[in-house]
Amino acid sequence: MFKLYLDPGHGGSDTGTVGNGLQEKNLTLDIALRIRNLLVNNYPDIKVMMSRTSDVARSLEERTDEANAWGADYYLSIHINGYNGSVNGYEDFIHNSLSNASETAEYRDIIHEEVMKVNNLFDRGRKKANFHVLRETKMPALLTENGFIDNDSDAAKLKDPNWLQKVAQGHVNGLVKVFDLKSNPQQDIHRVIVDGVQVGSYAENQNVLEEVRRHLKTAKTIVVEKV
Ligand SMILES: [Zn+2]
Repeated sequence: MFKLYLDPGHGGSDTGTVGNGLQEKNLTLDIALRIRNLLVNNYPDIKVMMSRTSDVARSLEERTDEANAWGADYYLSIHINGYNGSVNGYEDFIHNSLSNASETAEYRDIIHEEVMKVNNLFDRGRKKANFHVLRETKMPALLTENGFIDNDSDAAKLKDPNWLQKVAQGHVNGLVKVFDLKSNPQQDIHRVIVDGVQVGSYAENQNVLEEVRRHLKTAKTIVVEKV
């Protein structure tokens, strides 16, 4: 069981950086929720704990204390950058005490590559910093800065839900590679045959049951057959 602590930056009264009608706290939550959904819907052996799932303020200490107490295997913090409008691109950070040969750096290299494959942003590189969430976490930790909110070109991407989904998928692709996550096995397909006529075939159990319910009153025979 892989335990991911997923940390959307900022929240509540702390908006993070702002620009082009956007607030960092909303974008970090949007991307993080997409990452969580992709992971929990497609990978069975994973637990995701989030520092927040709504627009609330949480201190940095609360976030790292929670991840440490839970015994997370990995800490992933999602952020959006801001500067003076003329700077753009993606960058990520590990703690500045770590060498490039460390496990944390190795993990970061893989996630960096997977995120860069899909985000269509300028690559500002792999960086190190003495940020609280990187320093106070007992597990490997990464902080990603996904574009500049006050840069017109990056902001246009940040306003596009399809782009946000791609960025989430990029993070997931990196995590899948680093932690060798196995996706759900292919679901069985069931045919529903009513009075000798196939009325549908479905991968979702719920859809099979609904089809049966639709015909239950009028049918003489209903056969559910695994393909
Ligand atoms: Zn931030």
